Amino acid sequence: MAASQSVDTLISARWIVPVVPTGQVLEDCSLAVDQGRIVAIVPQAEARKRFSAREHVELPRHLLVPGLINAHGHAGMTLLRGFADDQPLQRWLEDHIWPAESHWVDADFVYDGSQLAMAEMIRSGTTCFADMYFFPDQVARAAQQAGMRAQITAPVLDFPTAWAQNAEEYISKALAVHDDFRSSDLITVGFGPHAPYTVSDEPLKRIAILAEELQVPIQIHLHETAFEVQQALQQSGKRPIERLQALNLLSPLTQCIHMTQVDQLDIQILAQTGAHVVHCPESNLKLASGFCPVDQLLKADINVALGTDGAASNNDLDLLGEMRTAALLAKGVAGDAAALDAHAALRMATLYGARAMGEEEQIGSLEPGKLADLTAVAVDSLEATPLFDPVSHLVYTNCSRDVSHVWVKGKALLRDRKLLTLNEREIRQKAEDWKTKIASQKKSTIQ
Ligand SMILES: [Zn+2]
Repeated sequence: MAASQSVDTLISARWIVPVVPTGQVLEDCSLAVDQGRIVAIVPQAEARKRFSAREHVELPRHLLVPGLINAHGHAGMTLLRGFADDQPLQRWLEDHIWPAESHWVDADFVYDGSQLAMAEMIRSGTTCFADMYFFPDQVARAAQQAGMRAQITAPVLDFPTAWAQNAEEYISKALAVHDDFRSSDLITVGFGPHAPYTVSDEPLKRIAILAEELQVPIQIHLHETAFEVQQALQQSGKRPIERLQALNLLSPLTQCIHMTQVDQLDIQILAQTGAHVVHCPESNLKLASGFCPVDQLLKADINVALGTDGAASNNDLDLLGEMRTAALLAKGVAGDAAALDAHAALRMATLYGARAMGEEEQIGSLEPGKLADLTAVAVDSLEATPLFDPVSHLVYTNCSRDVSHVWVKGKALLRDRKLLTLNEREIRQKAEDWKTKIASQKKSTIQ
């Protein structure tokens, strides 16, 4: 008999959903990991013969899926969770969020907020997140230290903030952060022009050229509200997406966030340019921004990923909850109960997120050769009983608090719900300290 192959970790789970091939649900299989990569997924009996593992993790009540990918958010803003609710987008931004940010946002605020965000994301099954926020170097540093995968799109705006004074300075600082993390195996740095209404043509053109040269991603909030589209039509006669296309900003490197206002021309432009859409249903609902026609976009072969947006407009970073909202909303919007079924919702939160970030070769599904970014969820709670279909439970029952284990590149970040790379007590204390300061300032401004 041939000697068994030595591997770092063997994970034996009741169910494994690899996402590729589509719709497959494996029972009583093991996934072997070595040097951060998936080696094989085979029946448990075969795995015991074939592999000798330094660590064997048994998950007899669990579903193992690819690590979830949160394709849009503002991690630092987690410190403003619940700061201003029940406001439409423009009033929420102009009267509440921007003034608070101009008062409080600095390197420490972003670092502490990002740690809080990551603790929450890991505990709800996310292994990779996309971020657009000030002091992106702090987000990148926090993610690298926590062992979490991140796509950081450094913000670009026409107006000054605590991080930079003008578009030119934002872009040169973005390039510096890109260079600092060039050799990181976890962090990708690109450009995050905030929105068409906050960035003018010249910086957008420059970003298009630089992103193409460096082959890095671009994230932009786009067609978030009807007001944004109407205002652009009045000012220029063009829809914002037409303007971005004319500036060469749309390509497979581009991720268009929100897209709640979509007509046939927009679909044509997305399809022609290969730009991706990131759907953030809970933020869109909370700000009453509109509805992204997810089913229609997917049927037009446009890639749609899933994001939570920031905790100030959600108010959590729970991607399993977001999957449920996305699936329910897609059915309502399409008038079709078959729209965005459970497997399709899971693909949006995994494979399609990886595709949007240009990482589909490495992450987003459980296949030999890919990186071992993994999430395990216990699916035997009373609320998940009885179980006919584990993917149905993953999407339609609220099981984010049953996420038990998380690995990134084969390294455990969560074991039995305990964070291994982040200090929960310290993170909570710092968040409380920020809240005390922010609340006292808010009170003194109101008086
Ligand atoms: Zn956003």
